[in-house]
Amino acid sequence: MKRRQVLAAGCACCASMIAPRTWAQTTPDYSAPQRFQRPDIASDEGGLWAMMDREEKALRRSPLVLRDARLTGYVQDLACRLGDGHCPDIRIFLVRTPLFNASMAPNGMMQIWTGLLLRMENEAQLAAVIGHEIGHYLQRHSVDRLRDIKAKAAASQVLALFGLAGAIGQFAVMASTFAYGRDHEHEADRIGAYLMHRAGYQVAESAVVWNNLLDETRAREGNETSETSPLFATHPAPPERRDNLARLAELLPGGTAGKDPFAAHTAHLIDEWLQDEIKRGQYAESLVLLSRRIKTGSNPKLMQYYRGEVHRLRGQTGDHDRALDDYQAAVAGDQPPPPAFRGIGLVARQRGQKQDARQAFARYLDLAPDAPDSALIKSYLAELDS
Ligand SMILES: [Zn+2]
Repeated sequence: MKRRQVLAAGCACCASMIAPRTWAQTTPDYSAPQRFQRPDIASDEGGLWAMMDREEKALRRSPLVLRDARLTGYVQDLACRLGDGHCPDIRIFLVRTPLFNASMAPNGMMQIWTGLLLRMENEAQLAAVIGHEIGHYLQRHSVDRLRDIKAKAAASQVLALFGLAGAIGQFAVMASTFAYGRDHEHEADRIGAYLMHRAGYQVAESAVVWNNLLDETRAREGNETSETSPLFATHPAPPERRDNLARLAELLPGGTAGKDPFAAHTAHLIDEWLQDEIKRGQYAESLVLLSRRIKTGSNPKLMQYYRGEVHRLRGQTGDHDRALDDYQAAVAGDQPPPPAFRGIGLVARQRGQKQDARQAFARYLDLAPDAPDSALIKSYLAELDS
């Protein structure tokens, strides 16, 4: 089966259904179970744990796992503060895959993909995602799900429940088939809201996560949301989920967003994640993400450069003008991102504006003499001089 890359893949944290009216009208209260003991290997749950242990071993060796001790430790610490006594059992893996996904396996292995991290605007949003996954874990939803699908599904489908196909094989996961059921999602949202509130975070940020994701998915040209994402096709109610989380936030007021600490721990990776993002080729979605970041003022020069790249690569009518506008905004003032000059050069070269191209390429090589594409740009310069 050919599997398309979709923005929202996998889990768990993404599925949504229509909520009962009372769902978000009472204050959540939750008492977590004791830490789990390893189940008997002969039981179905024991078999699921053993399977996840094997996957975790493979994941540990995977080149896709981020080897960034500081960021991983930061996320691990956040999960610990949310984890309600289960902290010692939660193991965080950050996985370099440009899709929005997080999942937690019953043995305590939690994956968070970089496409999700790229879209988080603060610590509270990340706490919302992690709290939701911990909610599934505490309630052992995967065991219910296993029993539900065991009779009809292959092992690969169970793996897909945890996003492992994406982590290891670079396939997008057909989330709709494997997502948790509506009651599980509601329960995980409620528990997640409770946990993040208890840890001192603004619950309202959980609704913002959904709102931002909806904006991106809806932007995909020529398609309705439900047609482009298998996730939303099966669970066409992310707006209800967002609205319910917003109502829960009114019952659980206060807390912090934690924008600065999140930015401090991720700033050095944003460039790499944005490169991965635009390689997905989902330009309409990327434009929504980047425009939002330019507006909110988080690293606007870099965001402006990447929005220029998206416009240049998309190449629709007017896109090269838009790209130039973005590149020019990116290079105005101090510390321009050097590749923005390369972008200006590439558009000028394509338009036959030799002098502009020459100047921009020279400036790029001046600022980034060791750039990996310097040989290519030198060959363009030689060609322009000939
Ligand atoms: Zn979920």
